Amino acid sequence: MAAPGLLPGMGRLIEMPAALGRLSRAYSKSHAFTEVLQLPKMELTKLVFPLQELQRHLLPDAKPDLLQLRIFDPSLEAIARAESFFKATPRHRIEYVSSAVRLDHAPDLPRPEVCFIGRSNVGKSSLIKALFSLAPEVEVRVSKTPGHTKKMDFFKVGKYFTLVDMPGYGYRAPEDFVDMVETYLKERKNLLRTFLLVDSVVGIQKADNIAIEMCEEFALPYVMVLTKIDKPSKGLLLKQVLEIQKFVDTKTQGCFPQLFPVSAMTYSGIHLLRCFIATITGNLKTN
Ligand code: GDP
Repeated sequence: MAAPGLLPGMGRLIEMPAALGRLSRAYSKSHAFTEVLQLPKMELTKLVFPLQELQRHLLPDAKPDLLQLRIFDPSLEAIARAESFFKATPRHRIEYVSSAVRLDHAPDLPRPEVCFIGRSNVGKSSLIKALFSLAPEVEVRVSKTPGHTKKMDFFKVGKYFTLVDMPGYGYRAPEDFVDMVETYLKERKNLLRTFLLVDSVVGIQKADNIAIEMCEEFALPYVMVLTKIDKPSKGLLLKQVLEIQKFVDTKTQGCFPQLFPVSAMTYSGIHLLRCFIATITGNLKTN
């Protein structure tokens, strides 16, 4: 069933193949923003501001729901500047530092830290790889089997911030994964923001709720990122976005009110997420 607020006919799109996937052919493997800026306006919007593109399909009176929540709305110029934080150069090294199975084994890095958490198979490694695509020598472990990523992996982004890839939780993930994630979230002093990944095909699952409850209980500022948005049809994606947005509005305190839909396949939403990370870590002014 189509979600309330969808334009007539959008319900049918739930069964149709996704359109966002076509973007992958639009620009080369380097995914440089200079190339993105050459795209026709509509393609550029789809790629850089996927939420804005989805909004076009909502009924006018449903629009404010998403519109008023576009709190983070940087200019293309700011997004272009954010890219330099993710582009490795001899003077700005982006590198894997170490892994840890326990918090007291975690490297002592003074910079602000952002971490990525999510169920096994949510697309976490793929997303981190996409964020680091301008530093291709950085090796991000992509798990082949659910529950494979068992460690916290720390990546240094020059002198600016640290990014942590947390072990996946949920299906087949042993209890101690939850303990590891929980201890880290509760005790890591320089943890600035947690990015909680939700699969846009299936929406918020039981295991996601456990992570959400953890973030809420520890009063952590966190952000919900919807992964794999090239996969569902546009209708299904809209339905998920509206449902998750409602959940964030009514059931959470610490969650940033704006959702970040992304695809590691088409790179939709990746540039905006980079800009958001550069901004919240205090490295980029967007206004
Ligand atoms: P992790 O276990 O959370 O690290 O998930 P992975 O990054 O290993 O991804 C799990 C599966 O989903 C793999 O088969 C990926 O190729 C696939 N996947 C990840 N991100 C995307 C995406 O944005 N779009 C599509 N279509 N598939 C994705």
